[in-house]
Amino acid sequence: MKRCETCGGPFGLIRHYHYAHQFCSRRCKNRYLQRLAEAVARRRSALARLTGLAGRLRAQHQS
Ligand SMILES: [Zn+2]
Repeated sequence: MKRCETCGGPFGLIRHYHYAHQFCSRRCKNRYLQRLAEAVARRRSALARLTGLAGRLRAQHQS
């Protein structure tokens, strides 16, 4: 049986869905969405650092 993706607990009478993911409560779903947003933000800032670094290296080559 599948369990809540956030707390791992069994489902109550009502399940909350986000695409293929299932959560026991609205709070668990919100926590999952928040973690998802944080992961995306982290990846975006890491990418920005990488591209910023590449730009700086290119600038050094030109001078
Ligand atoms: Zn839960």
